[in-house]
Amino acid sequence: MSNRPIKVRFAPSPTGDLHVGNIRTALFDWAYARHTGGIFLFRIEDTDRSRVTDEYIAAAIDTLKWLGLNWDEGPEVGGAHGPYLQSQRLEIYAKWASRFIEQGDAYYCYCTPEELEARREEQKESGQAPGYDGKCRSVSDENRARYTAEGREPVIRMRMPEGSTTFHDVIRGECTFDHNFVPDFVLVRADGSPLYTLAVAVDDVLMEVTHILRGEDLLSSTPRQIRVYQAMGVAPADYPLFAHLPFVMGTDNAKLSKRNGETSIAWYREQGFLPEAICNYLALLGWSPGDDRENLTLSELSELFTIERVNANPARFDMKKLENINGDKIRALTLDQFYQWSLPFLQRAKVVATPITPEQELVVKRALPIIQERIIKLGEIPPMLAFLFTEKVDLDPESVAKYLDGESKRIIARAIDVLTPLPTWDHQSIDGALRTALIDELGLKPRLAFSAIRVAVTGSHISPPLFESMEILGRERTLARLAAV
Ligand code: GLU
Ligand code: ZN
Repeated sequence: MSNRPIKVRFAPSPTGDLHVGNIRTALFDWAYARHTGGIFLFRIEDTDRSRVTDEYIAAAIDTLKWLGLNWDEGPEVGGAHGPYLQSQRLEIYAKWASRFIEQGDAYYCYCTPEELEARREEQKESGQAPGYDGKCRSVSDENRARYTAEGREPVIRMRMPEGSTTFHDVIRGECTFDHNFVPDFVLVRADGSPLYTLAVAVDDVLMEVTHILRGEDLLSSTPRQIRVYQAMGVAPADYPLFAHLPFVMGTDNAKLSKRNGETSIAWYREQGFLPEAICNYLALLGWSPGDDRENLTLSELSELFTIERVNANPARFDMKKLENINGDKIRALTLDQFYQWSLPFLQRAKVVATPITPEQELVVKRALPIIQERIIKLGEIPPMLAFLFTEKVDLDPESVAKYLDGESKRIIARAIDVLTPLPTWDHQSIDGALRTALIDELGLKPRLAFSAIRVAVTGSHISPPLFESMEILGRERTLARLAAV
């Protein structure tokens, strides 16, 4: 490799929300660029506009920003090698394709899909390796004229020489592909649109990418990309270095997909996972900092990240571990940060108004500290705090069936008796008064006594700490709720 500055690219084709595998790749790309002081380039591979929509592109850009993976070249920020949307670079690919034809590296192929299919069947029957058989490598002028007269629209195919391609993969070591299994491949479709292999290779060269860290699923496309570099006249010393990242597996040890796990980053965001938790967790998926530390910030990751520490074995996605990390990151937030993260969740669930009223803000800020220790996802907050913002509480039928009965009437009546005259309304006094009256004097079990009160006051037997909740709710509303059941 020459002395060009290190440049690492992330080049998704967003045909939906970016998924866990994409983001793990983006994170490693980003971390490697940052670790080496290089450039992080973000390119959108959208030549297939029937699948990659504007909406998905906008979502991909938004997701990277939300995660904090800032790029130096790419959409929105620009750069010297743009445009960074492949759909805006079509003439560039067309120009290179015709150059390959002129050089004899590529040729027009006139075979129809039906003819290709028929020959594939023959190959199968006679036990040959499947793939294009090279029929159009040399088409006579006469045949070309006949095909054209027949109205056949040719594709452009790359000529693969005999032999094999060997390259060094930083994670996998030496990889060799026998060209018997890399048939002449299509660069440009009959309608003139470029295929992935052409566009990706042309862009990596023109954008001066030095390192390609990407998913293992693309390993087998590497010899084809290298063939394009050759045709472009790139010296082997200037080829990008490849590092193919191991797959992310689901719990069933099959590649992570919608079937065996949640893959969409948008889903994690909606559930209330923090971006730093997602990055922290995904960083540990196939890479390790070399010790047993599990808590990492993005900046620590960029300091520590090396490709050498990427494990070549597939990594298993573990939701529990991600949840634990998320809980830790939530607990590490300052009250103000926690408030800022919680607010959109509370507003979306219409627990508080948009914009939030000053009174509501006060209540939220009093309530957040009592739940910060207990939640693992921000999405748990609205149902947990809703009881503080309603006039009357919605009683959860299951909790009612379990905890409100004849006995509980007596408990609640006694609670009202001692709470009404309480000199100061704070959680210590409430706690003290109820313990004396219900546990010491009536001899009840704390779980039984307090569950009844909890259901009456918060609507559910699962709630934030009871006495703090009653303090925040206020005496008047607490007593009204007790009296109402
Ligand atoms: N656009 C390709 C994809 O999303 C990846 C390109 C690459 O990393 O080489 O599958
Ligand atoms: Zn052909």
